[in-house]
This record gives sequence, structure tokens and C-alpha cells, in this order.
Amino acid sequence: MGVEVPGYGGSILYVDLSTKNSKKVPLDSELIRKFIGGRGFGSKLLYDLVDPDASPLAPHQPLIFVTGPLADLAPSASRLNVMAKSPMTGIHGDSNVGGLFAVEMKRAGYDAIVFRGASDKPTYVWIHDDSVEFRDATHLWGRTVTETTDELIREVGDRDARVACIGPAGERLVVNASIMVDYDRAAAKCGVAAVMGSKNLKAVVVRGTREVRIHDLKAFREAWEDALQAFKADPGTLLGFTKGSHFLHRVHNDIGALILRNGRFGQLPDDVLEKFDRVTDEYCVKSTSGCGYCVVSCEKNFVVDVPGYGRRRVKVDYYGLAPLSYRMDVYDPKIGLEFSYLTTELGLDHTFGQLIALAMELYERGIITKDDVEGLDLSWGNVEAIRTIIMKTAYRDGKIGELFAGGLKGIVDKYPEAAKYAIHVKWMDNIPQDPRGNPFYNFRYAVSTRGATHLWASGLSRIAHELAPPSAPLEQQMSVFLIVENFVTLVNILGVCNWAWSAYTTSMESYKRKEKALLKLYNSVTGLNLTINDFYDAVERVILIERAENARYGIRRKDDALPERFLKEPLRGYKTSHPPYPDLDKRLDLYYRLRGLDEETGIPKKETLVKYGLDYVAKDLEARGILPR
Ligand code: SF4
Repeated sequence: MGVEVPGYGGSILYVDLSTKNSKKVPLDSELIRKFIGGRGFGSKLLYDLVDPDASPLAPHQPLIFVTGPLADLAPSASRLNVMAKSPMTGIHGDSNVGGLFAVEMKRAGYDAIVFRGASDKPTYVWIHDDSVEFRDATHLWGRTVTETTDELIREVGDRDARVACIGPAGERLVVNASIMVDYDRAAAKCGVAAVMGSKNLKAVVVRGTREVRIHDLKAFREAWEDALQAFKADPGTLLGFTKGSHFLHRVHNDIGALILRNGRFGQLPDDVLEKFDRVTDEYCVKSTSGCGYCVVSCEKNFVVDVPGYGRRRVKVDYYGLAPLSYRMDVYDPKIGLEFSYLTTELGLDHTFGQLIALAMELYERGIITKDDVEGLDLSWGNVEAIRTIIMKTAYRDGKIGELFAGGLKGIVDKYPEAAKYAIHVKWMDNIPQDPRGNPFYNFRYAVSTRGATHLWASGLSRIAHELAPPSAPLEQQMSVFLIVENFVTLVNILGVCNWAWSAYTTSMESYKRKEKALLKLYNSVTGLNLTINDFYDAVERVILIERAENARYGIRRKDDALPERFLKEPLRGYKTSHPPYPDLDKRLDLYYRLRGLDEETGIPKKETLVKYGLDYVAKDLEARGILPR
């Protein structure tokens, strides 16, 4: 039943790119009650609309832009999730991005936009409140992200419009491509940009002029103030403001858990570490720019000379700079910043460097030869070779472009011997911290529903280690792991920023204050008076429906794994070394038990689905013969 609830945009926009039609559908009260918003809405819509048996790039597959009820209505809250069946992994795909696109989308009246079909020629969609226009984008095809964004803002004639676009990489269906929002924020994971490219959708431009209604303004102001006080009291806020995530070069190095030489080494030489630890001091311009009402402003603006382009400004965090530099044995941060600029402009994920690192190991082992890469010398640290790979992949040019465009899976498909060296989970290689250096926390890669990612259970790490030190029994460790995973999922549902609300949270008190502030903000905005248990019931549903979606793609317990190298080889460092990853099976048993999943398959049990009101999902799995008995 359609309802109007304060705080929400109020509707879902369905856009058919084949027929150039759109339809606005009011939000459903049941959808709000059960899934709340953001990743919750997206996961439910994806489960219901995706064709599990068809290619992720088939025209009828949905591409979903979705935001949460607190976007625009809380500090550090402007997140957009872009969701689709992933062409990178073949499973549930979800990429989370900042900027102000989500805010404009909500002000235009939409909590979610679902794109289906494919245009017969390059197109952009201009959404201005109730008006939805399909415009020719032929002149933009092949253009970089800055060129495209500048031109679109000029064409729509509104400087407050927000642009989400793909660069050359997304157009050419490169699975490591990014959808770029507001020039330099990236929805880079799971290949969602390739889905956009497959629909001939160069960009979405949005502008909203409605005021989002607030149920109780006085209570809302109080809740906002509570949230601000929680941020102020936490030293993590200042750390985020001064260094952004770049403090992690040292943190991960100190515990010997960096990913170097494709997972064979965990620590940098001291002089190299020093350079990366000081990267914000050396190359940052004074300004930081947050994503919108951000109290942390962790985004750092670097200035760097880029050959062929001149002096350029670029944003990159630890998670992008590490793969684009020392993971490939490039020890000069300036070069890493240059690669960050290039990949940003071409619409390629910063973690693309990890794929090049895999190729470098395969070259070292003689699995990839010079002939395979057009005579390129793929030795570790070869800056020219890396530059060439970035350019050729983005334009899918020649043998090199073809080899890298298919991502890690494409490489393993071509060179089956590569399987044992490829560090990924479910074909995603977004592993910023080696699990052997921090087994309890990095169990997250194994069970994340979108493949290896830190982002489905990130932050709260200090608290997690206080509650469950490495010597704690596994049962205790897993209970604490669930607290982290639940909180991050909640943050993604509400549309607030993971970094601000979770990653830079450094004490139990701060976490509890933030959790309370989120509930107060939500209830003051919507008037729905949910309880904290309602929040976490929605979290359970989201994780269950994502796991059920993956079950339809054939994902089972064996896929909740860690890379072979991590399970079999020790990790060496200059000062700290670690044995192979311990107790994965025991951890999985406990996790499945705590989540109500079948221990043999990892698929949600019928009684768990029914308990959370997902009877229709149970029926669907049963009809497919995959519901555990
Ligand atoms: S903490 Fe960083 S990523 Fe999050 S909203 Fe602020 S600037 Fe954006």
C-alpha cells in the first residue's frame, strides 16, 4: 500500500531505457517497515527484479540507484548504493558512494531509481523533480569523467544538478570500471559501471527542488545535536579530518598485514612507510572536501603533476593509493597519485592496481608472457607498463585491454594456473588488510555477500578488539563480529556514511551514542517510532535476502572462503610474521549458527526466513530446490 512518510523521497522511479518510458510508484509501507531504506530497499528490489539465470549485462537486468531515509537528514549522510547482479562476480552486486547525488535524488522525490532495458544509442537521463528526459549522449561517448560532467552541467543549465556518469572504461564494459559521482566519488565495486555501459547509459543527471518533510523538527534538532556531540567527543573524528584513511598505511604495516607482492609479504621498508605515512602532509592541499554535511571530511585533495595533463587535483584514500602504488612495488607516492588521477578520469576503480599486482606475479612465474601483453615488461614496479595497462584497459585496446577488462576472473579463466595465486573471494579482490595479520576481524571477507570487501564489516575495530581480544574464545569473537557486521549494515540501510559513523568510531561509548542518535534521528524524521530491535530485524532481513539471492546464483559454503594463499602459506614481514589463516571452518560454523543459516550450505534456513517475514523468499528457494531441509 502506498504511503507518504516524512523523511523519505516518497517513491521509486522505474525507467525503461528501451522504450524511453518512466513510471513513478509510491513507496510501500511494508517495504519501509521491513527494509527501512538504502541497502535494504536495494537488496529487496534486486531480489525481486533480477533474472538470476541471465547474464548481468542482459538488457532486462535492473540497475538500481537507492538511498536511505537519513540521507540529507543527518551529519555525514549522503550515501547512494548502486546495485545490480555483478558482472565482476556473477553474484549480488552493491557499490556505495558519497557526493550529493543521493541528496538531489531524494529532493526530486525518489528513494530509488530502477533502470531496465537498454537504449539503442548512448543516452543520458535528466531527472528534474517529476520530469524525466531521455537525451542523446552520442557526443559524450568516449569522453572522460571531468569532460562529461562539465558538459552535462552546462547542458542542463543548472549548477546544482548532480551527475553520475561512466568514463571510457564503463562504456567498454570493463568490470573494474566505476560510476563516478560529482566528478571524483566512485561507485567502483562489483562492476556496476559495466552494467550502466551495457545499457548505453552514459550518465544520470538529477536535480530536486522539494523540501524533504520532517515529522518533529524539535526532536530532530536535538537528535542532530546529540549526533554532533558524539562525533566531537570521539578522537576518531579529528583523525579522519587530518589524515583521512591514510593513517592506515602505518596501522596495517605495524601489524604486518599490508598486501605486498600479491599477498606474499606484509610490511614495507621503514623509509617507504614513512613516505606513505606522510602523504597527506606532503601532497595535500589545505582544503578537504566532505561529501555533504560531513563532520569528518575525510576526503583529501592531493595535487600532483601528471605527465601529459599538467598539475592536477585528485582525491584518493588509503584503499585506493595502496593498490595503485606499493602493492605493485611502486614506492613513490607521487606516482600512485598520478595513477589515481588517471583511473579517476577514465572511470576505473583505484583497486585496479591489485589486478595488475596479480598479473605481475603471473609474469614473474612465467604464466603470463611478454607475448600475451604486447611485449610489455611486467616486472614489479615498472611504472611505464602500469601506465600502459591503465590506458589500454580503460579503452579496451588490444590484447592488454582484453586481458584486463574481464577482471580477476577473466585472467583466471584464461590462465587456470593463476587460480592459486589470485587473492579474491567470490571473484572480488578488495582486500585491504591481510587476514593472516588479523584473523578475527578479517573473517569479514569470507562472508561478505558481495565478495571480498572490508566495507560490509568495517570500523569499530578498536572496540571489537577490546571486546574480543585474539586470545578470546572463537564463540566470543564471532558474537562481536556480528555486532560489527550488523552496525555497518544498519549504516548502509539508513544512507549515512560508513566511515563517519563506523570506521572513525573508537570507543564503545561513542558507538553506543551514535547508534542511539541514529534511532532518534530516524524517529524524529519519520514519526514511525521504531525500536532498536526493529532496526536490527531489518539488518537480519537484508543479510538473509542477499544470501538467498546468492544462493540462487549457486553460492554455497565452499564460496564463503578465503584465498588459497592465505589458508596455506605463512605471511612474512620484516618485523612481524603470521601463520596461515586459522580456524576458518570453525568460524563459519559459528557464524552460520548465529545467523540462522544452514551449516552445510550457508543458505538461510526456512525457519529463519519465516521468522523475519521472508516467507516468499523461502517459497522461492523451495521451488528452486535449494531450500535447506
Ligand atoms: S567521512 Fe569521508 S566518505 Fe564519509 S561522508 Fe565524510 S567525507 Fe564522505
